[in-house]
Amino acid sequence: MTNAATPTCSFCGKPQPMVTTLVIGPDANICDQCVRVCLDISGGTTEPGATTPKETATPAGESPLKVAEAPVPQESTPIDPPKPAEIYAFLDQYIIGQSQAKRILSVSVYNHYKRLFGAEPEGFDGVEIQKSNVLLVGATGTGKTLFAQTLARLLNVPFTIADATTITEAGYVGEDVESMLFRLLQVANHDVKLAESGIIYIDEIDKISRKSENPSITRDVSGEGVQQALLKMLEGSLVNVPVRGGRKNPQGEFMTVNTQNILFITGGAFHGIESIVRQRLNEKQIGFLSETEKVKVSETDIFEHIQVEDLQKFGLIPELIGRLPIVAPLKELDEDALVKILTEPKNAITKQYAKLLAMDNVSIHFEPKALRKVAQIAVLKKMGARALRAIMETIMLDTMFAAPGTPGTSVTISVADVDRYADEKLSKTLRKKLATKDH
Ligand code: ADP
Repeated sequence: MTNAATPTCSFCGKPQPMVTTLVIGPDANICDQCVRVCLDISGGTTEPGATTPKETATPAGESPLKVAEAPVPQESTPIDPPKPAEIYAFLDQYIIGQSQAKRILSVSVYNHYKRLFGAEPEGFDGVEIQKSNVLLVGATGTGKTLFAQTLARLLNVPFTIADATTITEAGYVGEDVESMLFRLLQVANHDVKLAESGIIYIDEIDKISRKSENPSITRDVSGEGVQQALLKMLEGSLVNVPVRGGRKNPQGEFMTVNTQNILFITGGAFHGIESIVRQRLNEKQIGFLSETEKVKVSETDIFEHIQVEDLQKFGLIPELIGRLPIVAPLKELDEDALVKILTEPKNAITKQYAKLLAMDNVSIHFEPKALRKVAQIAVLKKMGARALRAIMETIMLDTMFAAPGTPGTSVTISVADVDRYADEKLSKTLRKKLATKDH
């Protein structure tokens, strides 16, 4: 129920309060996020002043990615979905490495598009394409949330993140599954149709496994019950969502949301599944594979070998696995990948600092060796790319503090700056390990 007085973006439907900038035209409006999508499509930049809103409001080129600007399925006008290679190229702009997961998701999103917007081919009456929800398996900080966010950006649909550990079976203390839909509705400004084509990322799906040793004793709900509660929503059903959220509102207004076209992306670190996978592989290997072939399944590649039976052994119920037919493994990020993450993606951390400082008319240079050392520290912290931001924030603090008072200057972040961070913030053990990398 959009307030008629509130101007909204004509492309994504977001109301003015939910966007940073809304360019209001005589017949149509466009928000800053949609402008960015247009620029992504046309290969342009988001540099301030690089283009005028008027230019970006005009669709550029004939890229099929343009279809993403129409988030509400238009049944009467089927559109040509972006090809997997184009989706891959889009993901490549934001995500470093993870090529296998990118390929898998490119195909699944392509199919999702075809399901939503594709033209009905002749001779396939009654053949219903089922939804392909996705399970991302990878350690923390490998980019699971980033994948889901980037896909939502590509599709330009409402997107929300939920945490599976906060969900409980109906009737228990905690959130129920409907609360995810409520949040999606909020993002879609209560436009049910828009929400129905959205994406929900459910994090920590591994924590609701049957055998999970949940340290919380206040919650007496088995993981299996929560998995059961998720089932219907994942496969597609009509769910009554209390408009004010929560079930403590029995008399409240409900909105019925059809989850049939909502793409659910689930993710988890699945700690401990490595040994289940290895055990299965080794059982098969006896007498068949040579030692050199065994070595191929290294620590970083183990997730690529995950099979349905491993997930079941881990504690996901078969029905839930059945509704997550696409499993995309994410690799642990090594030093080289982390250096790239600092510098290469469209919104890489170093680019963000450069932009922030440019606003104070200060320029910045990062010594490559300094960035490599930051990546080495992140590897030692075992937090994947998650560690990068925290390390950089600490290193950059003094510079950011001083910048407004020193316009027109130039700053260099050197190895010495990173060493200072290491001396102050790292444990003795980590410092020792870091020192060995200097040689
Ligand atoms: P996860 O959900 O797997 O724990 P996130 O997606 O939240 O990890 O990533 C944490 C941070 O690291 C985010 O800022 C994200 O942008 C960055 N990041 C993680 N993986 C990548 C990657 N492969 N490429 C670029 N940035 C990444």
